[in-house]
Amino acid sequence: MQQRKIIRIKNLQINIFIRFTIVISFFLNKFSVNIKITQGFRPAIAKLFVIAEYTFFLVATIVVDEFYNTSVKGYYAIGDIVGGQALAHVASAEGIICVEKIAGHKPEPLDYNNIPGCTYCSPEIASVGYTEKAAKAAGYELKIGKFPFSASGKASAAGAKDGFVKLIFDAKYGELLGAHMIGANVTEMIAEIVVARKLETTGHEMIKSVHPHPTMSEAVMEAAAEAYGECIHL
Ligand SMILES: Cc1cc2nc3c(=O)[nH]c(=O)nc-3n(C[C@H](O)[C@H](O)[C@H](O)COP(=O)(O)OP(=O)(O)OC[C@H]3O[C@@H](n4cnc5c(N)ncnc54)[C@H](O)[C@@H]3O)c2cc1C
Repeated sequence: MQQRKIIRIKNLQINIFIRFTIVISFFLNKFSVNIKITQGFRPAIAKLFVIAEYTFFLVATIVVDEFYNTSVKGYYAIGDIVGGQALAHVASAEGIICVEKIAGHKPEPLDYNNIPGCTYCSPEIASVGYTEKAAKAAGYELKIGKFPFSASGKASAAGAKDGFVKLIFDAKYGELLGAHMIGANVTEMIAEIVVARKLETTGHEMIKSVHPHPTMSEAVMEAAAEAYGECIHL
């Protein structure tokens, strides 16, 4: 009965993504193929004698509304199966919103433009919100600030001078539109930007938020200052 109902979900969309991968390696140990899975996993090195490999993915997504109702009353779907960003923190946030709504609370729908994306490589990469290109395409006039870790005292002391923090602001209202970071610990630092964006923090509010010294996170305040021509450490 339950199974039949699930199958009858009207708006089940079947998207077929065909990934065609050919991997050729000739001699074991001499030529190797690097397979890199960047989200939380170390690169795996396949040292197999592979002539060719074909990979097909069949991905089905269930259409839901902003509170994760499917088209069948009383049935809900969250996480990877509803499409969008396939991330653990997205699935978790969706699940909480879904259950809060079922319990009669009034949760806000999830802001999918304020989801941090992290790549756990070395140096780390983290971003959230608009890219410069996307912000321009959306019609914003921009103020952009970039602060390199080479100018950071903590980064120098820690021997981690590679990378930078780039912040993108709306020139008109000062809204923080996006952040892009490369460097040590940036997958931790991105959380500050998520909160700042959630609270609609402006560039000057970030500049005036005193960051502890010496820390990698000072680069966030410095990048904001750089966007407004107020950076004194560059
Ligand atoms: C290699 C890899 C690395 C990743 N790294 C990261 C990362 O670093 N950070 C991050 O945020 N996200 C990462 N992700 C993505 C993240 O794991 C998923 O986005 C997240 O787990 C999605 O949660 P979910 O609940 O939708 O699905 P899942 O976590 O996949 O949960 C689905 C559950 O349903 C069960 N299930 C399936 N079919 C049935 C069935 N017929 N009956 C009963 N149970 C069933 C499965 O066993 C599973 O337990 C990674 C994913 C992969 C594959």
